[in-house]
Amino acid sequence: MTASNQPKIAIVGYGSQGRAHALNLRDSGFDVTIGLRSGGPTEVKALADGFTVKTPAEAVAQADLVAVLTPDMVQKKLYNDVLAPNMKAGACLLFAHGLNVHFGMIAPREDLDVVLVAPKGPGALVRREYEIGRGVPCIFAVHQDRSGRAEEFAKTYAAGLGGARANLIKTTFKEETETDLFGEQAVLCGGASALVQAGFETLVEAGYQPEIAYYEVLHELKLIVDLFYEGGITRMLEFVSETAQYGDFVSGPRVINAETKARMKDILSEIQDGTFVQRWVAEYDAGLPNYRKYQQADLDHPIEKVGRELRAKMQWLQQSAQPASTAQPAAAASGTDAAAGATAHPANPQPIAETA
Ligand code: NAD
Ligand code: MG
Repeated sequence: MTASNQPKIAIVGYGSQGRAHALNLRDSGFDVTIGLRSGGPTEVKALADGFTVKTPAEAVAQADLVAVLTPDMVQKKLYNDVLAPNMKAGACLLFAHGLNVHFGMIAPREDLDVVLVAPKGPGALVRREYEIGRGVPCIFAVHQDRSGRAEEFAKTYAAGLGGARANLIKTTFKEETETDLFGEQAVLCGGASALVQAGFETLVEAGYQPEIAYYEVLHELKLIVDLFYEGGITRMLEFVSETAQYGDFVSGPRVINAETKARMKDILSEIQDGTFVQRWVAEYDAGLPNYRKYQQADLDHPIEKVGRELRAKMQWLQQSAQPASTAQPAAAASGTDAAAGATAHPANPQPIAETA
């Protein structure tokens, strides 16, 4: 512990979550060191932000608390090769997603406290909300409590992120992992993007202008989601016309029906029984052949082309698009920094890492 009795923190990884956590925790008064492979893609950013950057091995050796904020698929190797041999006895190992621990890919050392603090939002938002005096709700969990203070560590860290300003909810590694995977697959990323693409295709195939279709099914979705966010479906209904409400009532259940829900349950079952993770690990180990194919199909979808043209006319959007696009080159270059835990792949799967 430092003089202030706060844990000395090492953050391994300086991407979407890593950078936001590091900046917020430092502003909250914590002693934060960044662990990165030397010459790695995000090292320059961490140095420019004024952090001390060490190799992961050096950074974790001196830390009371180690936050693992690298992509999920490199964490197993990172833990085995670098964290397990170098972490202090009795230190606290912290994750932002429970995947590796829950599915048994990482079996943490017996002497460690093992906790989870997962902000319910992307890194850029974790930082932005903190800066304006707000916070992103965080969920936390304890997998292993050797010190008797594991929960306190998790709460202290979550508070340092600004999460306590919004809400802290206690969960388990199992619940966080399974609900997070389900949410991003069925609703947030998978469900929402498939819904938008199918709606766009339906209008364009019927002969309507792609520009009109884009505004209708993608652009306007933000306004609806903002209402959900502020006041739930109740607030959305208050703001749309009677005609829109009637159409919602009679047509919504035709699009998302009992069959759709049955498929959601299948997706959840495959997450729970480990089938999804098994496939994902195999895909990653094979060098992401299908992942890249699916990704390309999304990038090549006609809605992307018309969207780029239309967004160029709304200059204010260029600025808010910054955080994600600046994260992109880092991911593309990450295969080039050779060191502990580096993978053989030319690029890390950044788009998935950018999700909720
Ligand atoms: P990211 O891809 O944005 O950043 C990864 C960072 O790790 C980069 O700095 C990269 O250079 C570094 N890195 C990669 N391999 C490394 C290695 N072998 N050794 C050391 N550093 C390495 O990742 P992210 O999206 O911030 O995800 C980090 C964790 O946070 C994951 O567990 C993810 O599930 C979780 N999470 C992410 C979000 C999100 O919105 N992105 C939200 C909640 C939780
Ligand atoms: Mg996720």
